Amino acid sequence: MDKKKVASFKKNLSEEKVRLEKELREIEVGNLNQSQSVTSGENSYEDHFADSGTATFERERDLSLDRNARDILARVRQALDRIENGTYGICTHCGKEIDLARLEALPYADLCIVCKKKEEGW
Ligand SMILES: [Zn+2]
Repeated sequence: MDKKKVASFKKNLSEEKVRLEKELREIEVGNLNQSQSVTSGENSYEDHFADSGTATFERERDLSLDRNARDILARVRQALDRIENGTYGICTHCGKEIDLARLEALPYADLCIVCKKKEEGW
C-alpha cells in the first residue's frame, strides 16, 4: 500500500483511538456517578420498580457501549501496531491484501472480506 494511504489511515485511526479513550473515560465517570446516586429512598413499590427498571436498562446500555468501545479500541490499537510493523492492510488470516474499499469503510479491519465472511459463517 502506498505510504500516503497508510499515513491517512494512521491519522484516522489515531483520531478514533483518542475519541474512544475519551468515550470510555466518560462511561467510567458516568458509572461512578450512578452508583453514588443510589440511595435507599422511602419510595412506594411502584416508584421503586420504575426506578430500578430504568436504572437496569441504562446500566445495560452503558455496559454494552462500554464493551463495544473497548472492543473497537483494542482493534484500533492493533491496527496502529500493524501500521508500525508494516503489516497494515494484510489479512491476519490468509495474508492477502485487504480490499482498499473495505479498509476505508473499516480502517481497523484485520481480515479480508473472504475470511470475514467465513468467520461469520456466511
Ligand atoms: Zn483473508
